[in-house]
Amino acid sequence: MERIAIFPGSFDPFTIGHDNIIQRALPLFDKIVIGIGVNANKKSLFPIEQRIRTLKELYKNNPKIEIEAYDTLTTHFAQKKNAQFIIRGLRSVRDFEYERDIAQMNKHATGVETLLFFTEHQYECISSSAIRELISYGEDVTEYLPPTPSSL
Ligand code: ADP
Repeated sequence: MERIAIFPGSFDPFTIGHDNIIQRALPLFDKIVIGIGVNANKKSLFPIEQRIRTLKELYKNNPKIEIEAYDTLTTHFAQKKNAQFIIRGLRSVRDFEYERDIAQMNKHATGVETLLFFTEHQYECISSSAIRELISYGEDVTEYLPPTPSSL
């Protein structure tokens, strides 16, 4: 049986912290589907089409990675992709409390297991929301975003 995981998130934008989780999770799975959650009530900075395009470009040379947007429950998306696992990253105690509750509910509802990766120290302070804030003040955030193959 193929080992399939989804890595769900808003990825508004996708950062080097997110990429670090993907790189560390890759050896464990046959396939990772990066699921961009679309929430009609949550205002985003980057349009969904742009987020998909950027991620497809970033991972175009990695056949184990798929990119897809979804607007359902994360567990339903996991089931749709035949994924047995949900990958999430843990930066802080605050992340922990939040992830634990959701992971337990998801496990109870569908049996899907959540695997948590502790953030590597150098990525701890990087968050999409902080990057959006910097962008709103016109700051250059390039150092927090993974370079796409075509920009290398
Ligand atoms: P969400 O809105 O679902 O929290 P995010 O795009 O903010 O979506 O994050 C997706 C996942 O990546 C979450 O598990 C989050 O904890 C993790 N994550 C976010 N930033 C980092 C980082 N700098 N290092 C490691 N994991 C991170």
